[in-house]
Order: sequence, then C-alpha cells, then structure tokens
Amino acid sequence: MPELPEVETIRRDLAPLLVGRTLTAVRIHAGAERLAITHAPAALARELSGRRVDDLARHGKYLLARLDDGRTWVLHLRMTGSIVHTTATAQAGRFERARVDLDDGHSLRLNDMRKFATWHLVADPREAMPNTGPDALDAEFSPAWLAARLATRTAPVKAVLLDQAVAAGVGNIYADEACWIAGIDPRTPADAVGPRRAARLHAAVCETLEEALGDRGSSFSDYRDGLGAQGLHQVRVHVFRRDGEPCDRCGSPIVKTRVAGRGTHLCPGCQRRPRRGSSRSSRSSRSSAG
Ligand SMILES: [Zn+2]
Repeated sequence: MPELPEVETIRRDLAPLLVGRTLTAVRIHAGAERLAITHAPAALARELSGRRVDDLARHGKYLLARLDDGRTWVLHLRMTGSIVHTTATAQAGRFERARVDLDDGHSLRLNDMRKFATWHLVADPREAMPNTGPDALDAEFSPAWLAARLATRTAPVKAVLLDQAVAAGVGNIYADEACWIAGIDPRTPADAVGPRRAARLHAAVCETLEEALGDRGSSFSDYRDGLGAQGLHQVRVHVFRRDGEPCDRCGSPIVKTRVAGRGTHLCPGCQRRPRRGSSRSSRSSRSSAG
C-alpha cells in the first residue's frame, strides 16, 4: 500500500502537470463503482468534468486536489492503487478503473487491481478523512504528541504507529522500519515506551519517511510514481520483508511475526521490549545503534 513517501512522490510528480489544468472528461469504468464515495459514479464524473485544479496537496495517505469551485477532490489509493500521468492516446492497462482527460492532451489513469481506491468530492477535505490526525511530516506530529498518545495505550507500539489519528501517513513498511531504527520491539505495550524512547521513535519515524521520500518511495508490489516508474527504497529497508536475512546492526536473522493483525518484521537481537514501568530505568545499551 502506498504510504506517506509514496503518496508524496506522486503528489510532487503530478502537481506541476495538473495544477492549472482543466479536467475535460472523467470516466469511471464499469466494475469500479466502489471508487465513488460521495456521489454515484456517473454523477461524480459529471461534477469533476470541466473543473480546473488549483492546487494539489497531501495529508497522510490522501491526495487533495482543490478545484476552482472551492471543493476538494480527495483521492486515496488504498491497497493497490496508482495514478499515472500519460498521454490521452495511451492504451488502458488491465487494471485501469478510471481515466481523467486534461485540457493539454494528457490523461490521468487510475490503475487498481484490488479496487479499494476511493474518490470523494467534498466542500471540506476533513469530511473525507475521518479519524485522521497530524501528517507524520508536519511539525504538529511532535515527540511530545507521540509520547502522549503512547502513554495512554496498552496496545503494541506498532498498532499505535499505524493509527492514522496518531501519525497520518505511516503504514506497515515504515512502522516496521521506524521500530528497527529506534531499537524498539514493535510488540512492546505502548505505555511501556516512556518519553525518552518515544522521542527516539519519533525521530525514527521522521528519518525513515524522509529517506524513503528521497528514494521516491518503495515498490514492493504495485506502487508506481506519478509517471509510472517504481520507487527505489525497497532495496534499502532494514527489516521489511527481509525475514531470514541478517540484521544490518547486529547480524541476527530478521524474523517475521504478526502484530496488530499485520505481518511484522523485526530483529530479535537488537529491538528491545521494555516492561511497563521500566521505561525510565536506564537499560542504557542503545542496542549498539550507531
Ligand atoms: Zn539486530
């Protein structure tokens, strides 16, 4: 699933190609009716047609296209969606679910094997993003914010990181990577993390997201950028889908387990699992992190 670095890469690719353009024709293909959330598919296509895109923003995993009538077209790619800028004459791919023609002879194609992607057309984008907190790369997502959210939860720390109300944009790949960077076992009860480790985890979330953004995202399966190319970060991850391979820090084999219902990758050698109440005690070996 595209997470923050992937969606931001798409946004940066598409913004210069889309802002100022008018959507001349919008088609949601047969079988893709679930794409349209706020309107019937034909009505949504009609409402979008003729509108100009004035801005393309992002919050968490949502793309927010502000239109010239003041409304916002909110796109979420979910599991397998991609949105690619191409020519109007390019042939449709096998999993094309919708196409949006632009007034300059180009076209956006939504490809989505699993058909979980969603489009909203709303007056206020918050209507389309329920239970969504600060973007994980916004200053509002701070060490203190994360520490406060962790302190009140007994769920595994990974479950809290995946909660979009805590850190919008973090998903399975970068939750695993952040826990590894911070040297924290993702199964640790959140309220055992404590403020010092929470600050380390916050820094790790920012670090892994920024690094992946610099690599234009991770393509483990379906992710494609706004021009249809793969990301590069999948070869630079530390734990995600590296089960059986040696840890970059301590050499122990990476293991795969399940946490919060999600496949989870961790190093049993250097990711620590403090007990509740021990979070302020030193356990000062910073897991040989350098
Ligand atoms: Zn290790």
